[in-house]
Amino acid sequence: MLPKVLLHDHLDGGLRVETIIELAKETGYDRLPASDVAELRAWFDQTEAGSLERYLEAFEHTVGVMQTAEALERVAYEACLDVAADGVVYAEFRFAPMQHLRHGLDPARVVDATLLGLQRGAEATGLHVGLILDAMRQHEDSLQVAKLALGFMDRGVVGFDLAGPEIGFPPDRHAEACRLARSSNLGLTIHAGEADGAHAIWLALQRCYAHRIGHGVHIVDGCTIEDGELATLTDLARYVRDFRVPLEVCPTSNVHTGGWTPDSHPLGMLYRAGFTVTINTDDRLMSRVTLSDEFEGAVQDHGFDVHDLGAVTRNALDAAFGSLPVRRALWRDVIAPAYGLG
Ligand SMILES: [Zn+2]
Repeated sequence: MLPKVLLHDHLDGGLRVETIIELAKETGYDRLPASDVAELRAWFDQTEAGSLERYLEAFEHTVGVMQTAEALERVAYEACLDVAADGVVYAEFRFAPMQHLRHGLDPARVVDATLLGLQRGAEATGLHVGLILDAMRQHEDSLQVAKLALGFMDRGVVGFDLAGPEIGFPPDRHAEACRLARSSNLGLTIHAGEADGAHAIWLALQRCYAHRIGHGVHIVDGCTIEDGELATLTDLARYVRDFRVPLEVCPTSNVHTGGWTPDSHPLGMLYRAGFTVTINTDDRLMSRVTLSDEFEGAVQDHGFDVHDLGAVTRNALDAAFGSLPVRRALWRDVIAPAYGLG
């Protein structure tokens, strides 16, 4: 199995179905659409009838069972085990701590419990792991989340992110929080150009100073395409390519919620045009996908070979927010040899 690097993966989008059922029982959550593992798995599977409403409803349930310290720790721990079993050697998980206060936890306890789970998972697997805190862009508490993140920088929080509905909630609505994160030397990634157009990517980069862009697939808006390849680029697309802005591309998730098909998705053309593409899972549960599946899709739908997969893995490692010496050692000792790269 190829060693992989995962930069964009939501903890509340990656729970095991069995765990959801057990946590619902333990925490008194009585709104699950099914209590049988097979039925609930089928309900969460968005690969057939995926709609944005259904997708958001799915998060109601996963977030609904993640309201105690024990539940948060368990979900974080199992996320490490699951991605490590898929060959991931470095992972940055993300979640929105303010969504986990319904049973009376305070935000710091939410982050603390999640970090404990990640730490236990890292120790059990050898996975290198970091945590990104999300502010929900439709809410007004982004500054509080950024401050929360700063308080845990020495415990494994490596970044700050804006997540949630893009349309109507542009990133510069949260410019103050983004600037605080950035000016405090925290990593900054912003979901942009997933549902909204390229202008959202411009706002994320030039008004909020993001290091990385979540999804970013709408960077192709306004570019011309000939024979399946990018022919002319917009000024913004040229900037993103030439300044090597890392794009956290999540192909399967985009197919389920963004109106792309597997082979019309711009992953391949962005990569071949020289963009700093990384490949990610987004929501392993809802998309029923692993990073290995995403790599397989890149091969099947976009013609990637093992060297291309090595190149996107290198991109991800270069764009990661964690310790550079750790990442260099991973490249030298684990990743480069596996892909035949030196
Ligand atoms: Zn995402």
